[in-house]
Amino acid sequence: MPRLRSVLPHRAPEVLAGASAWRQSAACAGLLDNTMFPENSDTAGIEIARRFCAMCPVWEECLADAVVEEGGKAKDNRYGIRAGLTPYQRHGLHARNRKPQADA
Ligand code: SF4
Repeated sequence: MPRLRSVLPHRAPEVLAGASAWRQSAACAGLLDNTMFPENSDTAGIEIARRFCAMCPVWEECLADAVVEEGGKAKDNRYGIRAGLTPYQRHGLHARNRKPQADA
């Protein structure tokens, strides 16, 4: 079975949901390769993907959509760099947001 990232070119995360207006302004919009889907061990590829996110004017919207779309998915069921974060980092973000605040 082909890996997900080998069959889904990254055209911002619009492949995951209906197109939102913000996606048209994404720095990664129009990429037709796997730039935004580096292997977890590909540190150079991750850095290249993050450079797109670093100059992206809609990274906040991207992160908000990633949080909603990925929900509580496991680390290995998250794909690509989104809002400058790796799948593992987004999983960690989700886990931290779920923890009750001790001092609240
Ligand atoms: S923040 Fe990164 S992944 Fe998200 S739309 Fe922008 S360039 Fe693409």
